[in-house]
Amino acid sequence: VVLAYGAESDRVVGIPGEDLKGVHSAREFVWWYNGHPDGRNLDPDLKNTDTAVILGQGNVALDVARILLRPTSELAITDIASHALTALEQSSIRKVYLVGRRGPVQAACTAKELREVLGIKDLYIHIKETDLKITPADEEEMKNSRIHRRIYELLSKAATAGPSQPSSGQRELHFVFFRQPDRFLESYDKKGYVSGVHLEKTGLKGIGSGKQIAIGTGQFENLSCGIVLKSIGYKSVPVDDLPFDNQKGVVPNLKGRVLSDNSGDPTSFENGLYVCGWLKRGPTGIIATNLYCAEETVASLSEDLELGVLASTTRLPKLGRDGLLQILDNRNVRVVPFSAWERIDKEEKRLGGLRNKPREKLTSWEELLKVAGSK
Ligand code: NAP
Repeated sequence: VVLAYGAESDRVVGIPGEDLKGVHSAREFVWWYNGHPDGRNLDPDLKNTDTAVILGQGNVALDVARILLRPTSELAITDIASHALTALEQSSIRKVYLVGRRGPVQAACTAKELREVLGIKDLYIHIKETDLKITPADEEEMKNSRIHRRIYELLSKAATAGPSQPSSGQRELHFVFFRQPDRFLESYDKKGYVSGVHLEKTGLKGIGSGKQIAIGTGQFENLSCGIVLKSIGYKSVPVDDLPFDNQKGVVPNLKGRVLSDNSGDPTSFENGLYVCGWLKRGPTGIIATNLYCAEETVASLSEDLELGVLASTTRLPKLGRDGLLQILDNRNVRVVPFSAWERIDKEEKRLGGLRNKPREKLTSWEELLKVAGSK
């Protein structure tokens, strides 16, 4: 039995200026503040600008906005990486723009995450009332999706709940709808650095089955900023020798059983091969979605075991876990068993306790492996 899980890459916007300094992917930024060892050196410049633009309106975009806007006294008692907390304490960012190419009915976030952002202490929220006007097609979309209706209601309420102007020094969150990025602008006085985003106004066009997509109108405007975080979703990376549906970015499968090709023929299984997570269903869902997803795959696997489907795949003796560990050892792969992870967990919690935090993340591979290997 082989279980496949994949890596994912950021979806690229694919417009000029994407490699300017100050343009980051949200994934890199999330890794940075979460203390992922591969993201600790990002060092985003939060000190030379008061404005950040986030492209996209999904939950990752909201997470990033929340980190930039929440009072650091509140962040200090979370498990945020300490290098990120220090940078955020020194941050000069006061305005965050969340830019969506469609309208408030189509925003990709979910209600709990939106409520958390809207509930940030002493935050001025701006949403243009004209963007909240809905069409019969929007009404249809909301009829078909309770989540979209809830998001629209929350945004409508937030648009009128607060004062019409920010008070001096107050942090601001602007929801910008119906705008798609056209190119990133380069600063005149700081060559190679981003100074804004050239945005195209959009309208919505129905494409059947109640779905509406963004269409450029040919009208443009600039939005100035000193940092851009691209949060437009992910795409799974194909795994060597596995069938892959490039369009959907998934390994073709039926309830986790890998299919031999994309033809949709439900009888052509890759015997003994299973898939789960984003590689199985695409880059969507909250943590609980992954639990159900894994349960479904494991149920398929158990069913095949009971039916004897797997028994016929090989005549070699089955060594189970010991056999797997032997293969990894032969390939010089260092294995961190659960007991070693528990040591890391314990050490992070101990360090956190010293600073009134639930944990202090170890943010380098050296530190992690050292603690994992300690007795
Ligand atoms: P996402 O939910 O797919 O949102 C992507 C956003 O980017 C959408 O607003 C989308 O607009 C926009 N977009 C895509 N391509 C674009 C383009 N070329 N130009 C401009 N905008 C573009 O992705 P995500 O926020 O990265 O989240 C991934 C998954 O993880 C989601 O299912 C999310 O719910 C989940 N997640 C969950 C949590 C949580 O449970 N708290 C936290 C983080 C993430 P369109 O709708 O118009 O395509």
